[in-house]
Amino acid sequence: MTAPFWVAGKPVAGGGTATVHHSYDGGVAGTHHVPSAADVEAAVRAADSARRETAALPAHVRAAALDHVSRAITERADELAALITAESAKPIRWARAEVGRAASTFRWAAEEARRFSGELQRLDTDQGGTGRLALVRRVPRGPVLGITPFNFPLNLVAHKVAPALAVGAPIVLKPAPATPLTALALGDILAETALPAGSWSILPVGNDVAAGLVADPRLPVVSFTGSVPVGWRIRDAVPRKHVALELGGNAAVVVCPDWTDLDLAAERIATFAMYQAGQSCISVQRVYAHADVFDELSERVLAKVAALGTGDPRAPGTDVGPLIDTAAAERVTAWVDEAVAAGARRFAGGRRSGATVEPTVLAQVPEDVAVMADEVFGPVVCVNPVASVAEAFERVNASRFGLQAGVFTRDLPTAFEAAATLDVGGVVVGDVPSFRADQMPYGGVKDSGVGREGPAAAMADLTEERVTVLTGL
Ligand code: NAD
Repeated sequence: MTAPFWVAGKPVAGGGTATVHHSYDGGVAGTHHVPSAADVEAAVRAADSARRETAALPAHVRAAALDHVSRAITERADELAALITAESAKPIRWARAEVGRAASTFRWAAEEARRFSGELQRLDTDQGGTGRLALVRRVPRGPVLGITPFNFPLNLVAHKVAPALAVGAPIVLKPAPATPLTALALGDILAETALPAGSWSILPVGNDVAAGLVADPRLPVVSFTGSVPVGWRIRDAVPRKHVALELGGNAAVVVCPDWTDLDLAAERIATFAMYQAGQSCISVQRVYAHADVFDELSERVLAKVAALGTGDPRAPGTDVGPLIDTAAAERVTAWVDEAVAAGARRFAGGRRSGATVEPTVLAQVPEDVAVMADEVFGPVVCVNPVASVAEAFERVNASRFGLQAGVFTRDLPTAFEAAATLDVGGVVVGDVPSFRADQMPYGGVKDSGVGREGPAAAMADLTEERVTVLTGL
């Protein structure tokens, strides 16, 4: 069946169709209908018209709808995971994990919808405020345009849709062109809820149409997850809009000399450098290992990487599959070659076949080559020795990105030092930077973005304070 797109909560099957291929063997993942300009206009108009009705929905109605979505995702987990794998070539084990996380994201948004409130502020702290009281509520800034990348076709869509609906803001979602089918399947579930029809639309459109949506004044909030250049261009294009950016990074992990379980550190590093073929914004890319542990850690990382299962993403034993397309794989291997030419040691990998890049371990990599300084977004990990933890922290901070960092230490002062001095949105102590629980505030600093996601943080971001002053009470 050719999947419909969604305008104002209704499935629409019309206009042209598009075919989605996956990158493992070029097979067809599915087809979908493509919105016309009139469909896009109808979706935006519906979001604009539904703003009051959606904001006025009782919290219990919003929460019940989000809870339903969470349960339905769990019930259809197999089908959704298979679809994620079919269109993104993400290994099925990671697709299943993503589906579980998406259910949790909706469940948390439901919980937060019940809690989300305001505060009562006394104004009589100065004489002029005597007899007055302020009710401070948080109200939606307006309809939201959500734009998502290809690497989490369900959970990053959940992180746009769930908080918007939890605060009563209509949302127009534009999924990634490579992976629209999972988002469209979520539409089947949203359509089962009692949410006002105008409160959500899902438009699988291209970048030009998306740029038009960004510029549309009826969508005053843009919540974007994707690459660094596209994100900042969007923000520059609409300086008067409220724009949240969840962008890329070159996440680092520091292995301190006090960390004794190098096998555990190596296993976590190998797994989360290579999972989803490195296509996660918080994949381990840079490892700074204290000189005391560098040799043993590198050897163990190498062994763990060698043990990863590669190949067909549909096979349950596959840990590392292909990248999203051949062009991405070509870029990654070119960056590896550049690093080796600049003096890096290649411990493993670096070769390409189609869209698949062998899991690659580099060591002693110059800081200024692309695999260190830019976002590699591929199955490549760079392990470098440092003379001290202080040097490692300096190198982590030398990046223009700042999403998350990991620090393997059991030393409390070092952990607090990391939390205080690393310029990132989150520090993970005792693990890799790739850890994310969906309810926690998540986002970056520097080029990695602005704003925080996680249902509670996003709900605060999508709303603003409105004050009602009560006099004579
Ligand atoms: P991308 O920037 O190419 O595309 C992201 C989305 O933006 C897509 O839906 C795309 O169609 C759309 N888009 C592209 N040009 C546009 C324009 N001019 N106007 C409006 N929309 C436009 O990113 P990608 O390759 O799909 O995803 C990978 C990137 O996403 C990586 O950099 C990764 O680090 C980042 N990412 C960040 C997070 C996070 O939470 N910080 C999570 C996942 C991925």
